[in-house]
Amino acid sequence: MKYHAAPFTRHSPPRVLHNASSDMEDTACCPVRHRSGLQEGDLVLVLTLLLISSITIAVFYILRIKRRLARDIAERKQSEQREQTRNHVLELLAHGAPLAAILEAIVRGVEQEYPTMLCSILLLDSEGRRLLTGAAPSLPDFYNAAINGIEIGIGVGSCGTAAFTGQRVIVADVRTHPYWAAYKDLTHRAKLGACWSEPIRSASGKVLGTFAIYHHQAHEPTDAEIRLIEQTANLAEIALGRSHADQALTESEKQLSDILENVSAYIYMKDTQSRYLFANRLLRERFDAPMEEIMGYDDTKFYDADTAANMRRSDLRVLKDGETLQTEETNLNMLTGVADVFLSVKIPLRREDGSIYALCGISTDITERKDAEEHMSHMAQYDALTHLPNRALFNDRLQQAIAAAQRHKEHLALMFLDLDKFKPVNDTYGHGVGDLLLKEVAQRIQDCLRESDTAARLGGDEFVVLLPTIEAAQDAGKVGEKILHALNQPFELAGHSLQISSSIGVAVYPEHGKDEKLLVKNADIAMYHAKKNGRNNVKLYQRGMKEISQ
Ligand code: GH3
Ligand code: MG
Repeated sequence: MKYHAAPFTRHSPPRVLHNASSDMEDTACCPVRHRSGLQEGDLVLVLTLLLISSITIAVFYILRIKRRLARDIAERKQSEQREQTRNHVLELLAHGAPLAAILEAIVRGVEQEYPTMLCSILLLDSEGRRLLTGAAPSLPDFYNAAINGIEIGIGVGSCGTAAFTGQRVIVADVRTHPYWAAYKDLTHRAKLGACWSEPIRSASGKVLGTFAIYHHQAHEPTDAEIRLIEQTANLAEIALGRSHADQALTESEKQLSDILENVSAYIYMKDTQSRYLFANRLLRERFDAPMEEIMGYDDTKFYDADTAANMRRSDLRVLKDGETLQTEETNLNMLTGVADVFLSVKIPLRREDGSIYALCGISTDITERKDAEEHMSHMAQYDALTHLPNRALFNDRLQQAIAAAQRHKEHLALMFLDLDKFKPVNDTYGHGVGDLLLKEVAQRIQDCLRESDTAARLGGDEFVVLLPTIEAAQDAGKVGEKILHALNQPFELAGHSLQISSSIGVAVYPEHGKDEKLLVKNADIAMYHAKKNGRNNVKLYQRGMKEISQ
């Protein structure tokens, strides 16, 4: 064992220790035992250090994992909270909650998720000029009051600028940012340090308002917080979009209702059984019944049986055959008992598959128009003073009568009648009395005629009579004599008793003319011959009678 010492220390080549027992033996008896003990200490130290560092690393990792876990849990909680807020808001939307309640739910949801945040939603007014408070329950009232109605523009805080530019505005420190320079006192009083604002845009890109997050301290947003701003602004857009759509729908419904209720036409809808589904104000007034007493009933409740049956017939053409009808209907008003004329347009209303589910009717009361038209047409055909047919209508009837006489190989007579010395009546008693006389003359002439005959006033004191069927010329002469005699009788007019006479010329078809022109001319010639013959007589046209110029 001894000889081992020197060679082992200085000269022996490095020994390879094969096992622990031989090593133990060496260290127990040789001079290098001290040195060998230090090495052991180093090892312990190294091992200890290794152990400590391992533990440190382990603790570090455990803490890191714990932190990550904690962060994950917090993030999960936040995302659950966000999901909850989103669901709550969508539920409110689905239930038609008021916009203010929905916006507040959005804001409160974010504030619950991030308790250090204070949020606001501002809405751009209809002119797109001013911001109005939509929801800002955690900001001080004085602050909200100062912001409410603020005109947007660059440098009008974060929200005013965001609404104006349509871009997100992140102000991490309101005390130093130029956008907030004009509001230093306000933010100081409200203890606000940061304000990040995101424009809320409609699907078409129009700015509807802003969503803003405030902090009491200066604060730069993280990526997650930027996502939060974007998502919340999107949620607010859904709420505002719904609200705008609702508003637009309400407005258009009101406009439609205003039109339906105020239009001067009867507007109604009927189901496939011709029962009323809707009646506008004018129709309700005509029926003198509220909507509940109209809906579900058909026209038999409101009209006489004939009118109701006619209406049902036209309704069914629309409902069953799909026709669009434009008809004139004469309806008896059950309240007034007066028959009114309506122009009715009825159109079928169809489902997407083309099947008809109702009709829509628009009926306009054209009674007055009809009366006016009739009046106009009467004026165009009748003499205003005597109400006898005028020259135009008479020519028409003469033409038809000649055609018929030609067809049936019959005779007709045409009489020209002119009052004798009518001018002196006007001159003596006045034009008014002259008019009364003309009216009375017209009546007397008509009294001498049959229903099928026509008397007309051509103008002045000149009348004409058409006898569309006569057996012989003498028949016409007899009628002429009858009229002559009737007009010879005294007239009692306006306290005056007047005596007049007339001159009558007669022409017979086809003997005295085969067309109206010649017939008229010859009757006129005969009349002038009666005048020339001393007046107060009837002259039948005769071949060779010459035209007499007055
Ligand atoms: P004669 O026997 O030749 O027919 O003589 P007269 O006086 O009847 O003369 P004439 O038939 O030529 O004149 C008709 C007059 O009737 C002329 C005009 O002053 C008058 N007169 C024309 N239209 C009207 C009218 O609407 N009302 C009235 N009151 N008089 C009319
Ligand atoms: Mg005359």
